[in-house]
Amino acid sequence: MAKAVGIDLGTTNSVISVMEGGRPEVIVNAEGARTTPSVVAYKGDERLVGQIARRQAALNPGATLFEVKRFIGRRWDEVREEANRSPFKVKEGPGGSVRIEVNGQDLAPEQVSAEVLRKMVADASAKLGTSIKDVVITVPAYFDNSQREATRQAGEIAGLNVLRVINEPTAAALAYGLERKGNETILVFDLGGGTFDVTILELGDGVFEVKSTSGDTHLGGADFDQRVVDWLAGEFQKEHNFDLRKDKQALQRLIEASEKAKIDLSSASETTISLPFITFDPETRTPMHLERTLTRAKFEELTADLLRRVREPVQRALDDAKLTASGIDEVILVGGSTRIPAVKRIVQDIIGKTPNESVNPDEAVALGAAVQAGIIQGDSSLGDIVLVDVTPLTMGVEVKGGMIAPMITRNTTVPAKKTEIYTTAENNQPGVEINVLQGERPMASDNKSLGRFKLEGIPPMPAGRPQIEVTFDIDANGILNVSAREKTSGKEASIRIENTTTLDRGDVDRMVQEAEQNAAADKQRREKVEKRNNLDSLRVQALGQIEENASAPQDAKDKLKAAADEAEEAVRSDDDAQIAGAQKRLEEELRTFMTANQAGQEGGQPQAGAQGQPKADDDVIDADFKPAE
Ligand code: AMP
Repeated sequence: MAKAVGIDLGTTNSVISVMEGGRPEVIVNAEGARTTPSVVAYKGDERLVGQIARRQAALNPGATLFEVKRFIGRRWDEVREEANRSPFKVKEGPGGSVRIEVNGQDLAPEQVSAEVLRKMVADASAKLGTSIKDVVITVPAYFDNSQREATRQAGEIAGLNVLRVINEPTAAALAYGLERKGNETILVFDLGGGTFDVTILELGDGVFEVKSTSGDTHLGGADFDQRVVDWLAGEFQKEHNFDLRKDKQALQRLIEASEKAKIDLSSASETTISLPFITFDPETRTPMHLERTLTRAKFEELTADLLRRVREPVQRALDDAKLTASGIDEVILVGGSTRIPAVKRIVQDIIGKTPNESVNPDEAVALGAAVQAGIIQGDSSLGDIVLVDVTPLTMGVEVKGGMIAPMITRNTTVPAKKTEIYTTAENNQPGVEINVLQGERPMASDNKSLGRFKLEGIPPMPAGRPQIEVTFDIDANGILNVSAREKTSGKEASIRIENTTTLDRGDVDRMVQEAEQNAAADKQRREKVEKRNNLDSLRVQALGQIEENASAPQDAKDKLKAAADEAEEAVRSDDDAQIAGAQKRLEEELRTFMTANQAGQEGGQPQAGAQGQPKADDDVIDADFKPAE
């Protein structure tokens, strides 16, 4: 059986890992890196994923998509503000969902995330030498139902079998607790690129029991970057009366420079941000430059309110776990943003303990996901590990007066199932609409509607008589299924889901197909480019041989030169048949030439390139994708 892998599908970076010899290990990507930027770029009908996409972002801002996790499974009205800050076009989609418009095409965030997953799994399959299908994907603990469902669908669109969607802090705790003995209560403080999670767990004898979880899905490293962007743009505007945020390319460069400055300030007390030629004066067309020094103190001042926002979720998690700060034995930091010194300070201040830094904040989540994948696949090296997780938010239905009637309250252990009986409010009501909600506020309208179900065909009865049995069923992924049945009449009624932001079955199937076609087209395109590049490098080698063997007979040199010229012509033509013919001829001529000159060349075998093979993965990548114009 092929091994299942664990994937941390991060806002900014993603990591993939697998169980090897009883321990989880990160799998490096095709570029040799342990983390892959969660960035997808579209150039014509080509897709670039990871570092290569990130590198060309400033030149292709409208079609380089990053931090798409902020939009996955969201309603448009939840993300409108963030969407407006984005250099690419985010807009309202069907049923109040979110779509990203790229080159005139509307993409669901799930499709974009699927591209990241597809690359990670393809690279890992190549590294492990086996085709990977089964995955565990992590999500922020505070993700609601539609965000979880959308993440699972992203996996499906990537052609994967998603064994489980697990919470990032719980995964981090698995990685941390794997080698710990004895009982302890830990608090996982996870501040990543786009989300903040805090989870309290009890560990002991192989049991990982989540006691409570809380967080803020609108708080992460990108918000810290945005403060620097706004400060830089504000300073620039004061000086030049020009808002850089209105210029897409300038904005993309500002975002990158701001993130870099923030990261610098985690180790330095001040940093200089220098962006020459950031824009042109609209009137005189003279270039304008930006140069500013940012101190750590100023950065902390700009982000003070963001730092304060972590307090409340920590307190809520402690309260829900019925603990005070002194009941926490260890604080585990996860997520790149916990490297910010002020973040560490505030954690220490709230809990009164120096955070434990034994786990790598960038990798712990993926490592834990691999452990979970191992548990599901029955990896015997893991022994008996039991994971007990909870649902982060209360789920319920809307009842008369626009109130929410909770069915499953937050921090209930999952999987969970609950049935309640409801009835009608009016005489002879033929049907009811069940609005399924998630959130902690008492009024339905202040919470998130996960979907509406219509139960129709109720026979005429006075108000209060029908017995409508509503069942909420949360699976181990934290994903909710709802069913309803009218009991008095004994009649089964049909249920329809309306107005959900997640994709319907037909959409997913279509996207799976599209993604497969795209992957096949990408492969073809890549193979074509490889063939062209191989021929070109063979041509260069042939010319080198002629030069090195100046004393060879003229007609032999001429023949080889003619084959090289033919190759040059074929490379220019980009015609498959012509390239294949020229490759064959040049290989033959080169072989003949080299054999004839063997005596003069000690060990002069043709190199790998002469056989038409690329020398290394890196060569393929660099040759495959040209820098953007
Ligand atoms: P993650 O989602 O865990 O990959 O976290 C990514 C976030 O961590 C991004 O916002 C990064 O800018 C941020 N980050 C990474 N390294 C550092 C650092 N040394 N100091 C501050 N923030 C960092």
